[in-house]
Amino acid sequence: MSRFIDFNANNKDTHTEDEGHRLRVRSALLMVFFACLLLDFCSILYRLQVVEGAQWRANANYNVTQSETVDGVRGDILDRNGRVLVSNQLGYAVELDTSLMGEHTNEVLSQLLALCQEEGVEWSDTLPVSKQAPWTYTKEENLFAYISEGEDGKTQTLPTQLGKLAEEYEWVKSAETAQISAQELLEAMCESFSVETEELTPQVRELLGVLYEVALRQKEITYNTYTFATDVSISFITRVKELGLPGVSIVSSTSRVYNTTSAAHVLGRMGLISAEEWPTYQGLGYPMNAYVGKDGVELAFESYLHGASGTRLLETDENGAVISQQWQTEPQPGNHVVLTLDSDLQAHTEQLLADFVQKLDTSAGAAAVMLDMSGGVLALASYPTYDLSTYTEDYNDLLADPAKPLLNRATQGIYAPGSTFKMVTAVAGLTEGLITPSSTTYCSGIYTYYPDYQPRCWIYNQGGSHGTENVSEAIKDSCNIFFYDLGRRLGIDKLVEYATAFGLGNYTGIELPESKGTIAGPETTEKLGGVWYAGQTLSAAIGQDNNQFTPIQLANYVATLVNGGNRYETHLLKEVKSSDYTQVVYEYEPQLKATIDIDPEDLAAVKQGMYDLSQTASMAQYFADLPVSVGCKTGTAEVQGSDANATFVCFAPYDDPQVALCLVAEKGSAGGNLAALAASMLREYFAAEDNLGTTSQENTLLH
Ligand SMILES: [Zn+2]
Repeated sequence: MSRFIDFNANNKDTHTEDEGHRLRVRSALLMVFFACLLLDFCSILYRLQVVEGAQWRANANYNVTQSETVDGVRGDILDRNGRVLVSNQLGYAVELDTSLMGEHTNEVLSQLLALCQEEGVEWSDTLPVSKQAPWTYTKEENLFAYISEGEDGKTQTLPTQLGKLAEEYEWVKSAETAQISAQELLEAMCESFSVETEELTPQVRELLGVLYEVALRQKEITYNTYTFATDVSISFITRVKELGLPGVSIVSSTSRVYNTTSAAHVLGRMGLISAEEWPTYQGLGYPMNAYVGKDGVELAFESYLHGASGTRLLETDENGAVISQQWQTEPQPGNHVVLTLDSDLQAHTEQLLADFVQKLDTSAGAAAVMLDMSGGVLALASYPTYDLSTYTEDYNDLLADPAKPLLNRATQGIYAPGSTFKMVTAVAGLTEGLITPSSTTYCSGIYTYYPDYQPRCWIYNQGGSHGTENVSEAIKDSCNIFFYDLGRRLGIDKLVEYATAFGLGNYTGIELPESKGTIAGPETTEKLGGVWYAGQTLSAAIGQDNNQFTPIQLANYVATLVNGGNRYETHLLKEVKSSDYTQVVYEYEPQLKATIDIDPEDLAAVKQGMYDLSQTASMAQYFADLPVSVGCKTGTAEVQGSDANATFVCFAPYDDPQVALCLVAEKGSAGGNLAALAASMLREYFAAEDNLGTTSQENTLLH
């Protein structure tokens, strides 16, 4: 939020060949644009504060200098090619100053709320009570108090913002032991805030919500105003002015604009500082009515995007009109965050997932991740997804949707890898010297090592066997017998060791919330309350048992493999640019997390198997006409009582890998079904690479 206009920010303009000329044209246009806006603001402020201010504030009688904290303009979020994905829009916000409403506060607020209802204007309301009867709390935990763990490991119970207020107004005796129903709370609030009513109606609840926000702010900061609603329409402003409500003012503000309908899980939302977040942001000097990142990139890179708040001194006369204002400290605009993401590829990938799942006609989800060789995220898609620009309106539907659109399946969904795990077993066997690229195992269709436990190869059910296979052939054919035998000889500890080294069952480091997943083995089984049997090693070796990983873990495992064993932390951040776009203020350095010492000949054998699979008839139909050759592996994991989940991993180009992919589809039957999607993603990515050629895209802003 800011009423501070920065002439250097937001300078996104059409790309032309001459950078200097473009900058001059852009600057001139922007100067004219902002000059017009400034005139408009001045005239509105003049009318509101000078012409009508006297009438509004007839009952008030004071003359005061007050300071207010003002946020800098938030930075933009761009993709790797300089496309602006999230920027700001100048607009108008409604601010309330209840000290100017006096004894008419409840009446003024009720009128304002009625107008908001009529005009469809949304306002901030964080009171955790339902909006209509039956009155219930909207959250179950941490309502009045929460448990906090100190650095010494000791826990203590602290009151929430509601808890503090409830103690102060004596709605409860103690926040820690509060036992008040939502209905009783609303009734107590009516009494404290002098709301005279026969019964609790939705209108009364709305009014209490605003009075609650006012009370919270009065408790924390000396300045009385708070931002009630943002991005309001001109027709709403006109009607507010017609009503002539004291203490209700319209100010210029900025709000987020989404220039893309994709990448919602990556970009994340903005929202008002919550009660729980306030202590942290207060310490960082944020004003209480500031908007902050709530999740995704907006939250992860809050410190880059936010800039620094400034302090303005306002002197007002007895009518409340501003006589003078000056900056004590000027707010600094935030820096711009450039992501590793390719927004065209991202949009394409999301469309592919949507089409795929809709064809299955299920309420299932799907995810896809493409990484570069140093862990940079090129695409990270989760289906179903949502629209950031209508998130607030859609929120209840999104929460209630059984397909869980708010869940980022690419980093938080955990899936059995199935046969895509077989390269872990292969590398472990080769590196530990149990097999060589040329040694063979015989597949008769049934594994007969144990007299009482004889699992089968998948091909046995189709009436066949694989015969003699080396490791490359076993990967191409996905022979279970080969990997049962190798897994048994390795033992579960070695399998766990190599899976861990590949980063499976652990956080990949991306700047978004992640699930950890689990690696199959005695430790996981015992944690789940079970007993580990030696025979389970066979299942673990082919990616079953308790092997459960996120799509981004699987993509990073393949990147690590074809990288020759170098595992990097995954990341979305490419670089941070100064608010005027002239300087790179931070550049992300790839973070090497671990190295698996894979012999080049061993790696060649594993990659060969993945390449040979891409050349089989079932796969070649998708990959044959790509501009690059690929290596791939399919996986299928049975899900009890449901269709199998499908997984698919691949890398390209085969000779000199640049990207690694993982796709997962719930109820997708078999991994091979995802090959067409992977091929389409690769086609999109390498066609774009061709178009970009060697021209540097640095400092180029595209629409
Ligand atoms: Zn076999």
